[in-house]
Amino acid sequence: MDPLKIGIIIVSDRAAAGSSADLTGPRLSALLEGGELFVAKLVQRMVVADERADIQAAVTGLSDRCDVLLTSGGTGFAARDVTPEAVAPLLERSAPGLLAAMLHGSLAVTPLAMLSRPVAGVRGRCVVVTLPGSPKAAEECVRLLAPGLPHAVDLLRDRRTRVEHVHLQLQSDTVPQRATPTAGGDEHYCQHQHQHQHQAGSTVDPSQVSRRHRRSPYPTIPLARAQEVVMDAVAGYERAVETLNITAAQDRVLAEDIVAKVPLPPFPASVKDGYAVCSADGVGVRHVLGASNAGVDGDGAASTVRPGTCVRISTGAAVPAGADAVVMVEQTRLAEASEDGTRELTVEILEAPRAGQDIRPVGSDIAKGTLVLDSGRRLGPFELASLAAVGVCQVTVFSRPTVAVMSTGNEVQEPGRPLEPGRIYDTNRLSLLSALPATGACVIDAGIAIDEPEQQLQQLAALRSALHRADVLVTTGGVSMGERDLVKRLLTDDLGAQVHFGRVFMKPGMPTTFATLTLDGRCKYVFGLPGNPVSAAVCSVLHVMPALRAMAGLRDFQYSKLRVQLESEVRLDPRPEFARATLTHSQTGRLPVARVTGSQMSSNVLSLCRAVALLELPARTDQRASLPAGAEVDAIVVFGQL
Ligand code: AMP
Ligand code: MG
Repeated sequence: MDPLKIGIIIVSDRAAAGSSADLTGPRLSALLEGGELFVAKLVQRMVVADERADIQAAVTGLSDRCDVLLTSGGTGFAARDVTPEAVAPLLERSAPGLLAAMLHGSLAVTPLAMLSRPVAGVRGRCVVVTLPGSPKAAEECVRLLAPGLPHAVDLLRDRRTRVEHVHLQLQSDTVPQRATPTAGGDEHYCQHQHQHQHQAGSTVDPSQVSRRHRRSPYPTIPLARAQEVVMDAVAGYERAVETLNITAAQDRVLAEDIVAKVPLPPFPASVKDGYAVCSADGVGVRHVLGASNAGVDGDGAASTVRPGTCVRISTGAAVPAGADAVVMVEQTRLAEASEDGTRELTVEILEAPRAGQDIRPVGSDIAKGTLVLDSGRRLGPFELASLAAVGVCQVTVFSRPTVAVMSTGNEVQEPGRPLEPGRIYDTNRLSLLSALPATGACVIDAGIAIDEPEQQLQQLAALRSALHRADVLVTTGGVSMGERDLVKRLLTDDLGAQVHFGRVFMKPGMPTTFATLTLDGRCKYVFGLPGNPVSAAVCSVLHVMPALRAMAGLRDFQYSKLRVQLESEVRLDPRPEFARATLTHSQTGRLPVARVTGSQMSSNVLSLCRAVALLELPARTDQRASLPAGAEVDAIVVFGQL
């Protein structure tokens, strides 16, 4: 956990002239760095003259690097006192509560505090307060502000778990009046008395069972919004590219537009086995000049077909010069052959040909220069075939994103050994490891992380190590309301992640969580899926897979939808629900018929087997508790993804 980063600007003409005249700066530094109030680190202390421009330059420069920026001096009534006037225009939001706390406390010490004109507010993610210039008054003010500053910084940095923790404390009977220093250098900003020593290296305290949230601190957002948030976040993912031979490019995503280098067919080609003729000749007997066979120069390939002559030709062979039609062999009759039967001398054309009949002109399938495939296309078997056809054998493709899959939970056991009491086999990791490669991502097995409080560091280490190895981490379990559900807290409090959402209004999968954090200088994306196998699978389909496909560079990263009809009545849930269903051809209706795959409990892994669609069932309303048989709903086609 980072200490509060503090900047101090001493505003004083005298102090600026000789820094030994500055007594306030060292006193504030000692107080803040001593750890008595909270854990803090001094980023910079500087002295500037009582000049508006100098003060503003210092505040602008330091506020980007600090959580809390304190100026001291220049807040009185003297003509040179311009600090509030210099600082106020730089503040984006004011913080009158901080001013009230300072003035109220200072007035209790001296009525002259009424002559101080401080300002306080927020600039970017930095709290800025102008303190009085006297060392004693400045220190008193910092002590008065101390109980609020760490929490203010948590709010500015969106450290949601810790913010909620303080709120919870404030609602309890044991609200401390002042900030309490924490023991042993352990870095807590929370202001409660710690009954329990946390695991070193992690700030999450799972022992405070009775203080856990009874309602999720995360707002519940609609699925469409959640999907938008994920897509916006992954839009920033930076993809590398690599060049591959087409024989090694299966399932990769093109990173360039491909233009035909050669036309297809490259020569006028016969569509039939028969005779190349002059169409103007109509029906009648023709002299056979020789043969043109596919791929070989038959004795007739170089001939020029003139009126009254023809060349025997096979499918795919080049049509010789002069010919403008092919007559298939079935529409001819042998008129005369050589004695030994090795040559046809004349044939009779039985049906008059049209000009151009059964000839594929040059480039009629793919003209030279045509855009064959565009960037963002997955190279399936026929895309590869098209590349080969137009003479392209090296392609630039996107490098694959890497995704690590991790299960969490004490009860989760690796399959392969007899089950221990109270445990269940890990199914989520296997299903995700099997399903995710289809998105185009490289998939890494990050194992099972235990969520026993004593093993919390192991879980943190496992999360960290997986994040070092992958662009995306998908965890299952540990994001609900259980006392051991630590994933969100470890992410925010220990890994500095920003949780973009922690609850989605959908069934299954309400506690689905999406967070981003910076590690190794790169943005990492974390999906915390609920542990129930159905929730994990459905949420992976709805949130993770489209994101991975988009990161892989695929242009079409969303699913196709079908309109379907319910085979039987379906009861609706208060949340929009994604029911697993099979689809069958309807003998009578226009639309495919959807049959829900048995019990839709989120633990029922069998409901995923055979399912090819997720039915988008609307939320229940007072007017509508169920949908009748025959009702039409949209279905997300997940064939091959579940
Ligand atoms: P959780 O989301 O951790 O509260 O877990 C919800 C339910 O899913 C519990 O019944 C867990 O035992 C079960 N569960 C969690 N992880 C897995 C997993 N990897 N495989 C199968 N079931 C799991
Ligand atoms: Mg669990």
